[in-house]
Amino acid sequence: MSQTENQPTPPVENQAPPAPAPEPEPLREIITPSNKEVIVLAEQVGGQIQPVTLELLGAGRDLANKLGGQLSCILLGHNLGDAAQTLIHYGAEIVYVGDDAQLENYRTLPYRRVITDLLKTFALPPHILLLGSTTTGRDLAPRIAAFFKTGLTADCTELDIGPYEHTNKADPDKVGLYPGCLYAIRPSFGESLKARILGPWNNPQMATTRPGVMNPLKPDTSRTGEVRHIPVNLLSEDYRLEVMEIVRETSNSVNLTDADVIVSGGFGMGGPEGFELLKELAACFENGVVGATRKVVDAGWIPYQYQIGQTGKVVRPKVYIACGISGAIQHKVGMQKSGLIIAINKDADAPIFSVAQQGIVGDVFHVVPELIRQMKAQKQAGGVSSAEKSLV
Ligand SMILES: Cc1cc2nc3c(=O)[nH]c(=O)nc-3n(C[C@H](O)[C@H](O)[C@H](O)COP(=O)(O)OP(=O)(O)OC[C@H]3O[C@@H](n4cnc5c(N)ncnc54)[C@H](O)[C@@H]3O)c2cc1C
Repeated sequence: MSQTENQPTPPVENQAPPAPAPEPEPLREIITPSNKEVIVLAEQVGGQIQPVTLELLGAGRDLANKLGGQLSCILLGHNLGDAAQTLIHYGAEIVYVGDDAQLENYRTLPYRRVITDLLKTFALPPHILLLGSTTTGRDLAPRIAAFFKTGLTADCTELDIGPYEHTNKADPDKVGLYPGCLYAIRPSFGESLKARILGPWNNPQMATTRPGVMNPLKPDTSRTGEVRHIPVNLLSEDYRLEVMEIVRETSNSVNLTDADVIVSGGFGMGGPEGFELLKELAACFENGVVGATRKVVDAGWIPYQYQIGQTGKVVRPKVYIACGISGAIQHKVGMQKSGLIIAINKDADAPIFSVAQQGIVGDVFHVVPELIRQMKAQKQAGGVSSAEKSLV
């Protein structure tokens, strides 16, 4: 070791302190032009507003309040009676009404024409346009989105407003802070994630939501609003399709959305015969029906119209009894807003227990027959309602 290596380093006099790191440039705020309006596309059948529209108005009211904008509705059809007033009672401030014999039955091209013609007359585009994830909404929404070159998120389970910071340097024109974006939230990537999908680059920002997911406001007949009649100018190219006949399905339909009690079965029911047991339990209730998971429907144990979940029906019964159902997120989004959820599963760690208020860890083939026996015994003793109360 040399002598110099052992000597302490002499202090360096007048050494300049290290330069402070430069402050990061604040992100510029980017506001894409809009009039802050939230518009719901109404659906009606024979002048009757469909429940999904009232639910969208509930969600739209919340978004409009957060944006500081107004909530409007587009209503198309013929002989619409007081449907526009109904929309106002449920929260719309303006209803754009297109009333014409050509709009009586939904057809893609005429409806698209009237809606895009209307929106083109706005000095600034609306901020948000919402439709139901119904046959009509799913058909119409992408055509309107493509016309305005804007984004569309389908089958949302939640909607919100918030900011977005775009810092992707590969996209320098877009780098900035976008306030007031539509957060379109939906289950994604199999069972594990809820994705928040944003598209603030262009307005209107568009989303569809499934029937039964959003909460309607309480109707208030003292609410007032404006009804604006809009022109209906169809072109010959809009008449490519003619409706010859409308046949509404009445047989084999199961009314899951109006049932008070749903006894729902999953793959744990073992086969179609397991569903006979569930039908027997459902019949113990005054307004009880059977429901099912997609896995059961895919296996052909029960028809599709019984399916509950993301790609089936969204339900909110007073009581939901989940039998042999694991509780995948795609199933939960269809039933988690039920009044009381009772889960029966032999696996104590099954995810269904995370949304259940009452859980029974056990074999469905022991628990369900015992429930049926007790329900029947109590029914005989004290009538239906006391039997239902005893279960609840
Ligand atoms: C894009 C997409 C959309 C989807 N949409 C839907 C949808 O709309 N609806 C839907 O339901 N699913 C949907 N799925 C499927 C979903 O991911 C699940 O695969 C499905 O919900 C599972 O059904 P299950 O609970 O019946 O079956 P499993 O996951 O197999 O669960 C069976 C459960 O039964 C229990 N079990 C077994 N035997 C018994 C017994 N004797 N007693 C008590 N418990 C028992 C087991 O412990 C298990 O928890 C979708 C999937 C994708 C990818």
